[in-house]
Amino acid sequence: MNNPLLEPFNEAPFSKIKNEHFKPAFLQAIEDTKKEIDAIVNNPEPPTFGNTLEALDFSGQQLDRISSVFFNLNSAETNEEIQKIAQEVSPLLSEFSNDITLNEDLFKRIKTVYEQRDSLDLTTEQETLLEKKYKNFSRNGANLKEKEKKRLREIDAELSKLKLTFGENVLAETNKYEMLLTVEKDVDGLPEGTKEAAAQLAESKGRQGWLITLDYPSYIPFMKYAKNRELRKKLSLAFGSKGFHNDELDNQENVKKIVSLRFERANLLGYKTHADFVLEERMAETPEKVLDFLNELLEKAKPAADREFAELEAYAKELDNIDRLEKWDSAYYSEKLKQKLFDLDDEKLKPYFKLENVINGVFKVAEKLFGLTFKEVDTVDKYHEEVKTFEVYENDNFLSLFYADFHPRPGKRGGAWMTSFKPQYTLNGKNSRPHIANVCNFTKPTASKPSLLTFNEVTTLFHEFGHALHGMLANTTYPSLSGTSVYWDFVELPSQVMENWCYEKEALELFAHHYESGEMIPMELVEKIKESATFQEGMATVRQLSFGLLDMAWHGKDPSNVNNVKAYETAAFKSTNLFPETPETCMSTSFSHIFQGGYSSGYYSYKWAEVLDADAFAHFKENGIFNTTVADKFKEHVLSKGGTENPMDLYKKFRGAEPNIDALLERAGLLKTN
Ligand SMILES: [Zn+2]
Repeated sequence: MNNPLLEPFNEAPFSKIKNEHFKPAFLQAIEDTKKEIDAIVNNPEPPTFGNTLEALDFSGQQLDRISSVFFNLNSAETNEEIQKIAQEVSPLLSEFSNDITLNEDLFKRIKTVYEQRDSLDLTTEQETLLEKKYKNFSRNGANLKEKEKKRLREIDAELSKLKLTFGENVLAETNKYEMLLTVEKDVDGLPEGTKEAAAQLAESKGRQGWLITLDYPSYIPFMKYAKNRELRKKLSLAFGSKGFHNDELDNQENVKKIVSLRFERANLLGYKTHADFVLEERMAETPEKVLDFLNELLEKAKPAADREFAELEAYAKELDNIDRLEKWDSAYYSEKLKQKLFDLDDEKLKPYFKLENVINGVFKVAEKLFGLTFKEVDTVDKYHEEVKTFEVYENDNFLSLFYADFHPRPGKRGGAWMTSFKPQYTLNGKNSRPHIANVCNFTKPTASKPSLLTFNEVTTLFHEFGHALHGMLANTTYPSLSGTSVYWDFVELPSQVMENWCYEKEALELFAHHYESGEMIPMELVEKIKESATFQEGMATVRQLSFGLLDMAWHGKDPSNVNNVKAYETAAFKSTNLFPETPETCMSTSFSHIFQGGYSSGYYSYKWAEVLDADAFAHFKENGIFNTTVADKFKEHVLSKGGTENPMDLYKKFRGAEPNIDALLERAGLLKTN
């Protein structure tokens, strides 16, 4: 069969690809890659960096191209047929990648090179590649004895089951709970849309009244707007006690088993704790550093949080004579106070943010900072007519292709993201340039109105474009180290830093013009946006820190003496408490981020990324937000380097120092003393 996916291609040949091409292409490409790996393993020459590491990194290129075309389509333009193919090929792909990591002969060759590394005269990038490839095997047990390997497989199998059960229990608890309200005054305060949805939900289940559930679209507005305090309490306690009812859906034992197995796994591999294991491949490096980081921020944020809490309590007292502010009062009175302080609404801002203007704005920002120009082209094959395609030039040299896909469609998943159809790498002296995409779900234009973005959508566009720049400006040798292939507590720096330009007059002047009158957005509005962005930032920060500290308490210590999950959690929360304690609730039993998802020992990274972007942007601000010397350094040491060096080293080369938390404290308004 003539299969366009199995021919060599530069631009993805969307118009030629039919769904029936995918599976045979995957199967063939997996076979081809196996042969490439076999050739490395069976090479009669002794292992060298070139014939083993380099060869391994450049193997499977066709398979990677097919995967990126396929999985990007599955996210941005999917249908049942594509989803079915995904179900079929995903297990094949993970089996194939496991076969590589468990290939002992391949590991032997890598280890031989690894052990000679000091005498090999490698470049920094080559050292990083060697280190990462070696760790990819050793962290999966390649160095263990047979008996230990067997135990490791047992632990992994048990952990994946436990994680699944943990998540299923949380989901079942969420779906099980309903609060049926039958008296109109019990839904007092709720916005019309929320009320309507609650009434419809009740009706769909053959009930009368309003049905409130623990799903976010139901739970969040109820906590924010419902006047009835007793009902807020009831719902809040139900939400906070998922997996904590000593019944068949209880997660307390699962939490204990998960942390014990993770601890044992880390010990087997030679690490002190699970956190030591995880953080070895993070910019933060060690549990001690993470704890210092969290506690330092806590020390600065706690006074602000206490102050904000007192203000909120006083406001609740003034409004409704509430004496003691409880967890179920927080969202409700915060929302009221926020409305009182800032009379901001999206409709006022949107006319200044016509989509085309914002895109041109972000392009101009990239031009001023990095010398990039964007030329829209209609010669590039695309997967949907709405996709726009651009050739990107850096000082007249072709840099990248850029696909922009902005509006929602039935086959597109929610949210916004950056992805690539082709990675950047350098092979045989030729720098092969990348194909990068941004996919979003912004409001579509109508017959009478263009697409007008909310401010939140504007910052989202800048954010995803920041990731795109990381991809487009990539300039490395090895594909696995290129672009956004960096430690995950470093990957949000380029994206988050770009958001800062959305708040600056000099940048807004470039694009924030009223779509009808052309008038520039009034700066009072921008000031208000800034102020409201830091509203109750102390409380929000302390809350984030409490989750990070709980995560580290579970994963940074020997958990074998933990008997009571709730008591252990209460102790971990001690330094971050604002609200009175509720014995009925437990966070750990539904903390899916760290017990089901991939965030174990990683929750801190949300704040870590904010510290990085605030500190980096402060450097721009000190020198002018369009200062090209600073921008050049950012390009040279961060955007172009991908994961070729330790991120702390890269950051220091850009900034001249390690990141400092002061810029974030300043931006978040946490340094005010009154
Ligand atoms: Zn991001």
